[in-house]
Amino acid sequence: MGSITGDFEDETVIVTGGSSGIGRAVALAFGEAGATVFNADVRSDPKDLDSEAPTHEAIEERGGEAEYVETDVSEPDQLEAVVTAAHEFGGVDVMVNNAGVHVNREFREVSREDFETVRDVNSRGVFFGTQTAAEDMIERDEPGVILNTASTTAIDPEWEHSHYAATKGAIRMITRSAALELAQHGIRVNSVAPGPIATEITEGWSERAAESVGSEEDEGPTTPPTRAGQPEDLTGAYLYLASEQADYVTGEQLQVDGGSQIA
Ligand code: NAD
Repeated sequence: MGSITGDFEDETVIVTGGSSGIGRAVALAFGEAGATVFNADVRSDPKDLDSEAPTHEAIEERGGEAEYVETDVSEPDQLEAVVTAAHEFGGVDVMVNNAGVHVNREFREVSREDFETVRDVNSRGVFFGTQTAAEDMIERDEPGVILNTASTTAIDPEWEHSHYAATKGAIRMITRSAALELAQHGIRVNSVAPGPIATEITEGWSERAAESVGSEEDEGPTTPPTRAGQPEDLTGAYLYLASEQADYVTGEQLQVDGGSQIA
C-alpha cells in the first residue's frame, strides 16, 4: 500500500486532550509533519511516565516544536488563553477539539452530576473551543481548520454510554452548524468519529460495555472490526481533514472504526 505524508511546516496546531490516547497520537503526528503543536490538557503527564515523555517533550525530542498549556476545556476562558498563547507562533491554524471524558453508567443510574461532568468537557468544551478558535481566525483574517472528536456513539448507542452519546451527537451538530456559518470566512469544520480505540477511556469500560461493541478479541470477531483499534489508526484522518487536500470537505463526519458500523 502507498502512503500520503503531511506537510504542516509553519502551521500552528492546538490539540486539546493531547496528553493521552488519541489526542497524543494526533499531536505527535502533527509534530512529525512539522507543525508547532500546543497540547491543551488538564495534565501534562502521559499514561505511563516511566516509558513515555509528556507529549510536548516527545515532539521536541524528535526535532519538533511544542508547548504544553494547562487547560480545562470546560472553562471557555482557559480555551481563550491557549488560543492567545498560539499568537506567538502566528495564531492557530488548526484547532483539534479532542478532550473528552466518560463515566460508565447504565441509563437509569446516570446522576445529574455524571451528566453535567460529561457534558461540560465533551460538548461545552467542543462548542467553545470551536467558537474561540474561529473568532481568532476571523480576527486575523486567516483561513483555518477545526476538527472535533466525536464518536460512533453519535449514531449508534452503546451500553452505559447514554449521557456520553448525547454529547457526541451534540458534537456532530455543533460541527455541522459551525461549518455552515463559518464557510464564508474560509474556515472548515469537520469531525472524526472513532469506534472503540484502546485508550484510558476504554480501559474503564465494564465487560458489558465492551461486549456490546464486540471489542473483545478472545475468540476473534467474525464481523468487522477484525482487530482492536489503536490511537495511531486515527492520525491519518486528522491530517487529511486538516490538509489542503480536504479543501472541499466541510461539515462532514469521518468514521474511523474498522468497519464496526457496517457489522
Ligand atoms: P484518553 O482518556 O486517553 O484521553 C483523553 C484526554 O483528555 C486525557 O489526556 C485527559 O487528561 C484529557 N482531558 C480530560 N478532561 C479534560 C479537560 N476538562 N480539559 C482538557 N483535557 C481533558 O481517551 P481517548 O480515548 O484518547 O479520548 C480522546 C477523545 O476520543 C475523547 O473525546 C473521546 O470521547 C473520544 N473517543 C474515544 C473513543 C475510544 O474508544 N477510546 C471512541 C470514540 C471517541
